[in-house]
Amino acid sequence: MPTRFEPGAPAPERHIPLSVPLIGGNAWRYVKQCLDEGWVSSAGSFVTEFEQQVAARAGKAHGVACSTGTAALHLGLLVAGVEPDDEVIVPALTFAAPANAVRYVNAWPRFIDIEADHWQLDPQRVREFIERGCDWRQRQLIDRTTGRRVRAILPVDLLGHPCDIDALMAIARDFDLVVVEDATESLGARYRDTPVGARADVSCFSFNGNKVITAGGGGVLATDRAEWAARARHLSTQAKSDPIEYVHDEIGFNYRLTNLQAALGVAQLEQLDDYVGRKRALAAAYTTALAAVPGLATMTEAQWARSMFWLYTVRVDARGYGMDSRALLRRLDEHRIQARPLWQPLHRSPAHRGSPPADAPVADRVASAALSLPSSVGLTEDDQRRVIEVVAGRS
Ligand SMILES: *Cc1c(COP(=O)(O)O)cnc(C)c1O
Repeated sequence: MPTRFEPGAPAPERHIPLSVPLIGGNAWRYVKQCLDEGWVSSAGSFVTEFEQQVAARAGKAHGVACSTGTAALHLGLLVAGVEPDDEVIVPALTFAAPANAVRYVNAWPRFIDIEADHWQLDPQRVREFIERGCDWRQRQLIDRTTGRRVRAILPVDLLGHPCDIDALMAIARDFDLVVVEDATESLGARYRDTPVGARADVSCFSFNGNKVITAGGGGVLATDRAEWAARARHLSTQAKSDPIEYVHDEIGFNYRLTNLQAALGVAQLEQLDDYVGRKRALAAAYTTALAAVPGLATMTEAQWARSMFWLYTVRVDARGYGMDSRALLRRLDEHRIQARPLWQPLHRSPAHRGSPPADAPVADRVASAALSLPSSVGLTEDDQRRVIEVVAGRS
């Protein structure tokens, strides 16, 4: 098994990172092929291959490669028809990128709480917000407190576990909303009998270095709608409508992925199934070792979910465990083990102070109690044992 660590370093001193890529397989061969042939930039066969393969993995007909997952989200909102001053429903607990993408199109995130079991956007809270907080006027859903149109739901498949997409799609159908799914943390997970991302109108993936597989950086927008995919591609290439005369028919973006990155991405995709298997094995080992530790809650899967456990995250109850999540973070750091809390809930983010206020007690509770443990695909058994020893309080 390839490893990132130098052989011979004294094991107990070695730093254990939270999540680092594992480069193997055909990576060198494919990247070298780009270098040898000179196809290093935004044209080249790996780009097409990459976007088609990711789309197939997402159960979608079309894939558009982008420079980042965030760019894919931005384009997803644009092609889905989200307009300035619209509102988009976003979970209160997630990395900021999806909420930021909503602001890029001058719309506003409407933060809704997560559910307590798997920390995904709570369909029941979404329905409550719509039924108690909105009016249905002239076939449009209007947020009563802001007067803005609610246009879309942007659920996130958090930490490798799929959100309850069927429940969210049902709400979207009832109120004529589009669903842009942020599956950036969860490529390789499954929801019932379909891959994650398959059921939304648009789904977005990321190939940043901390995800399960990487292209160095990159994203893919996947959709079944040919015209949406074509528009996303157009917008990602500066909306150039005449390649000879350089006529641009609207303000576009330079959101293209390079062939070099796509080459790495294609090589990594060949290893995805293996990597997801490893992540699930790591998760099972953590759960077995930590489930009985007082005050510690381990990760679970919904009965309809097959998680790929992007970052294995425990919940620390300070009273039962004897210290809180941040104290455990420092303790792990003393042992040269990198852990990390989740994110500041977005309804508390200074960056999003302009968005409507939200009540999201579950997001608050999970954010203060959660700690992600080292989850690299290449984490060795010895290193995982070291993490477990510290977390279980044995060293
Ligand atoms: C990683 C991530 C993204 C996209 O990240 P990029 O670095 O832009 O590829 C978007 N949303 C969430 C929830 C993420 O974790």
